[in-house]
Amino acid sequence: MVEEAFGGEVLGELKIGVTCRHGLEGGAAEWADVLWIGPAEEWEEIKSTYSETRGGIIEVDVLGRRVSILLTTVSEMPDACQSARMPAMPELEASISTAPELSPGRLAALTSRFVSIRSVNGEHSERDLAVEIAGEFDAAGIETALIGDPDRPSLGARVGEEPRVVLNGHLDTVPVDDGAEWEFDPFSGVIDGGAVHGRGSCDMKGGLAIQVAVAQWLASLGAADGLVLHFAMGEERGEPGTEDLLAAGFVAPMGVVLEPTDLQLGIAQRGLVTLHITITGRGGHASRPALARNPIPALRSVLAVIGQLDTDSVGSHPLLGSAQWTPTMIHSGVIPSMVPGSCEMHVDRRMIPGETIDGVVATLSSALAHTETGADIQVEVAEEEGIYEPAEVDADCATVARMRQAIESQGQEVRLFGTPYSSDIRHLINSAGIEAVTYGPGHASELHARDEHVMIDDLTDAARVVAAFVLRATSER
Ligand SMILES: [Zn+2]
Repeated sequence: MVEEAFGGEVLGELKIGVTCRHGLEGGAAEWADVLWIGPAEEWEEIKSTYSETRGGIIEVDVLGRRVSILLTTVSEMPDACQSARMPAMPELEASISTAPELSPGRLAALTSRFVSIRSVNGEHSERDLAVEIAGEFDAAGIETALIGDPDRPSLGARVGEEPRVVLNGHLDTVPVDDGAEWEFDPFSGVIDGGAVHGRGSCDMKGGLAIQVAVAQWLASLGAADGLVLHFAMGEERGEPGTEDLLAAGFVAPMGVVLEPTDLQLGIAQRGLVTLHITITGRGGHASRPALARNPIPALRSVLAVIGQLDTDSVGSHPLLGSAQWTPTMIHSGVIPSMVPGSCEMHVDRRMIPGETIDGVVATLSSALAHTETGADIQVEVAEEEGIYEPAEVDADCATVARMRQAIESQGQEVRLFGTPYSSDIRHLINSAGIEAVTYGPGHASELHARDEHVMIDDLTDAARVVAAFVLRATSER
């Protein structure tokens, strides 16, 4: 067999295996350690050299390097090709920790490069980063497509006819408004102290690097069939990148969104809706208030109602804690000597799974109707602020079960998590019916923060888990 033939002793760190595609649909592999990958014709060439120099040394190009291979044992290569097989799952899972595509250096370098390609929402198009990532896939033989607005596209990839799992991430980042105070230039992608630094390193170019690396690794095995990839524009502002990709058919039954969870398994996510409350009165001169109807005193009752609803919500979800009602803006009046005609308030309403936007509006409207302010109070959704529905999958569903196995297979501890922020996972779960979880490197406290960074150890651990998960998900038919 090939393993015996190549021995591996002269190969040092770069271990070699062989892929052959003789009459096997979709390709199949016979493995030694790691590998030469290429078309059948090239293999034929290597094979004939092998026959001639049996017992000697041949030289081949492996992953761009000229490598000498000492043939220590003779084997029946053509038969080995005919009986080519994928290695068993445990062998493949074990190979994750030595795969060059998933190495810490490779993941750090990819993340750093992506950080240096600016994609600040509102300042730069996501296009440059999308094109850069597409280039990575070209080299791996994975076809990609730019989707949606050509000026601000998303990038999608789909391998094979039977999609099994989608990996989702977003290309855009939030801005930097205090760059001079950062330890490192926010867009230099500096690698220092075991971390990649810069805007987007944690949220979520580290996640994008993992998506790319996992896909390249699977492609190198000839095992990427069933993998779907999303690189979405506009996530930070609720723009339709992921929705465009889903509408274009980039879907699968299972999914992972690689937002930072500090390697916890996110199975539930809060939602957000901003409520706009208007108390309508009648304006007038402040010297004769009786002729006017001042809306401001009614605020006391409105705030009391909101405070009570917030108190009643405490502990309403096991992973996410509480739904929340938080008044965030109040505006009324034009000049101090006038009774205002109206008073407006915004309430940041964090939602938990099971709640609906209509239900939230109805709850507040009904509670306010029972206050006896006598004021005219209207509640509506501030749609311009974006609407982010909550989302959740069952802790016993197939995706969670496979993620548990993948996490354990890489020697990590399974910790269930409720993500306090919103992400595009709501579109995967709520709109496309994809059984999706959130899992990624980096801590939520790094999100949108000064000196944003992601630890390279976390990148590596997350990449290995995602690789193990996708391997399982795509190999089950
Ligand atoms: Zn994000």
